[in-house]
Amino acid sequence: MSKILFVTGASAGIGAATARLGPEHGWDRVVVHYGRDRDGAEAVAAEVRETGAEAFVVGADVRDDDHIATMLLAVADLPPGPIGLVNNAGVVSPTGKLADCRPERVRQVFAVNVFGAIEVARQTVALMRKWGKGGGIVNVSSAAARLGSANQYIDYAASKGAIDTLTLGLADELAPEGIRVNAIRPGLIATDLHAKGGEPDRLERIGHTPPLGRPGSAEECAEAILWLLSDGASYVTRSILDVAGGR
Ligand code: NAD
Repeated sequence: MSKILFVTGASAGIGAATARLGPEHGWDRVVVHYGRDRDGAEAVAAEVRETGAEAFVVGADVRDDDHIATMLLAVADLPPGPIGLVNNAGVVSPTGKLADCRPERVRQVFAVNVFGAIEVARQTVALMRKWGKGGGIVNVSSAAARLGSANQYIDYAASKGAIDTLTLGLADELAPEGIRVNAIRPGLIATDLHAKGGEPDRLERIGHTPPLGRPGSAEECAEAILWLLSDGASYVTRSILDVAGGR
């Protein structure tokens, strides 16, 4: 059956790699979501189409419920099929201790990483139920959730802790419907996220520190995500997989 891979934050980084590799893993329709970078999303969609799969570009600021609703209307216009949702859109906050975690900064991080992820999941699961074709979910957490990230972006770490707990709760609720819910916890991954968080030299500075001696790649995270969504993981739900080079 024709399957829909729906990846949020897919214009760059881990999301883009997941969308690009989707067709190799049997996803013949890929929904490429972007927040602001439409050109990036179009470029990813063009690469997906080169494989012979279909690609659809949708935009939404995941801090805005109405944007998410409009995006889901576009997805609902597609011919029904199982949906593999990758809840990947996220922001990191700049390094800082508790005193730096002012309410506005914390609200922004939670608005994207937690409220956005819950609302995208809520509306996507509603569509899965309406279509009755099943599906699965992978949430993108962070090693920071487990480490607590003392002395650096503790608000970001807390938001990813919420994603871990969300994964457990969703897995419990959706297991009776055959919808598996898992998460990955990436460690230090070579994407633009670090520069966006105000640390352009982060990878250079600490890239050697994971036990495997190097940062991971977006593709290595994508492979883990796509395995969790695959039939090969048919008995795996409520799992949170570290993709962190042993960290
Ligand atoms: P990235 O910056 O390339 O990707 C983040 C994506 O989220 C972008 O496409 C961005 O447009 C989107 N996004 C951000 N705010 C948005 C909003 N308000 N509305 C819609 N989309 C929005 O970085 P990445 O490293 O690929 O990050 C992907 C995920 O992986 C994030 O959830 C991040 O927290 C997580 N992660 C990354 C690392 C790492 O080291 N790179 C480590 C752990 C977890």
